[in-house]
Amino acid sequence: MYRELTDEQKQILTTIRDFVKREIAPVSSNMENADDYPFQIVEKMKEMGLFGCTIPQEYGGMGLDYTTYAMIFEEICKGWMSVSGIIGTHSIMSYIVYTFGTEEQKKRFLPLLAKGEKRGGLALTEPNAGSDVQAIQTTAVKDDDDYIINGTKLFITNGRYGNTFALLAKTDTKAQPPYKGISCFIVEKGEPGFTVGRDLDKLGYRGLDTCELIFQDFRVPATNLVGLKEGAGFSHVMSGLEVGRINIAARAVGVATAAFEAAIRYSQQRQAFGKPICQHQVIQIKLADMATKIEAARLLTYHAAAKKDMGERCDLEAGMAKLFASEVCGEVTMEAMRIHGGYGYIKELPLERYYRDAPLMIIGEGTNEIQKLVIARNLLNKYKI
Ligand SMILES: Cc1cc2nc3c(=O)[nH]c(=O)nc-3n(C[C@H](O)[C@H](O)[C@H](O)COP(=O)(O)OP(=O)(O)OC[C@H]3O[C@@H](n4cnc5c(N)ncnc54)[C@H](O)[C@@H]3O)c2cc1C
Repeated sequence: MYRELTDEQKQILTTIRDFVKREIAPVSSNMENADDYPFQIVEKMKEMGLFGCTIPQEYGGMGLDYTTYAMIFEEICKGWMSVSGIIGTHSIMSYIVYTFGTEEQKKRFLPLLAKGEKRGGLALTEPNAGSDVQAIQTTAVKDDDDYIINGTKLFITNGRYGNTFALLAKTDTKAQPPYKGISCFIVEKGEPGFTVGRDLDKLGYRGLDTCELIFQDFRVPATNLVGLKEGAGFSHVMSGLEVGRINIAARAVGVATAAFEAAIRYSQQRQAFGKPICQHQVIQIKLADMATKIEAARLLTYHAAAKKDMGERCDLEAGMAKLFASEVCGEVTMEAMRIHGGYGYIKELPLERYYRDAPLMIIGEGTNEIQKLVIARNLLNKYKI
């Protein structure tokens, strides 16, 4: 699947690298530590069109493919992983609207999502239902031209500063299997009954809003039911999560690469026992393992993205990429910290941040335990006897 970068990709990556170097890297550690939201960076991302990177041009976006999308996430995460979260679930929501929405819904939402005027997110998880999405308790009851939503969503990225969410709710609480009763709605802030609850204080991925969303008799117009189809929400979201897993895998490659590059640089500067530590074979073995695993993770990620670009389902490939890349990110950030010795453990360097950011990729967008179930299910299907 490996291909030379196109001229367009080279140009986009040069622009993103420059943006990361000038606008993100200099402020990332301080803002992350202070848990400060990057408002200025958001405005720059709007100017650059990043909120519409995968939205087709006919709806005002850049219409990029998922391979380029993965490369953009990788570059941003070399600077600060939290920034990628601003356009992460936003892009999954945009994908759901574009792929499953009616023409009227696409025209109403996509141009504003592309400009970043509407800021998207994904509201699936609840206090008692994460991996087991079918166990959600949020309900949507039809009432004339509206649905009335009741329930609480938790861990919602972009919950405070986003305003438009793809929300899963049960339109039929008795359906068997339960996923057949789950529908996807586009809910917008502004009307009574939709409030943002607490902000979650996180280990890493700081500076970005992750919140509780509370719905109490919240009215959403029936025209906001995605595709105007009840009972199809679970499959809409599962398809969207393929995009999410590609972006999580790419984030993991980006964070791991930043950690590796810091480690190989430091290993040539730091002296121990009369020579640079990179001259000690144990350090060389670490560097070789880190770089090899990162390259494998990157290729898995691009492979999954290429399959999505061909218009095919890629649960298997995206699941493998997300699983492998995030575990590699966990290992590499730890090894990079070890290569830095005591300096890796203090906040003067970004190593401890890379290490704190890594578990999000292991847990988010479906935990790695769940990825293994998805991968095995797909393999058993593929190799069915
Ligand atoms: C920072 C952050 C941001 C997030 N952003 C969003 C967001 O924007 N929108 C959103 O909807 N959600 C979001 N989430 C939620 C995230 O998707 C869930 O946390 C994740 O899916 C796991 O769900 P859970 O936390 O309820 O864990 P649980 O589902 O309770 O799982 C607990 C443990 O049990 C394991 N487990 C569960 N079922 C099985 C099984 N069948 N077999 C083996 N092991 C199993 C899990 O792997 C895990 O180790 C976010 C989470 C975090 C931490």
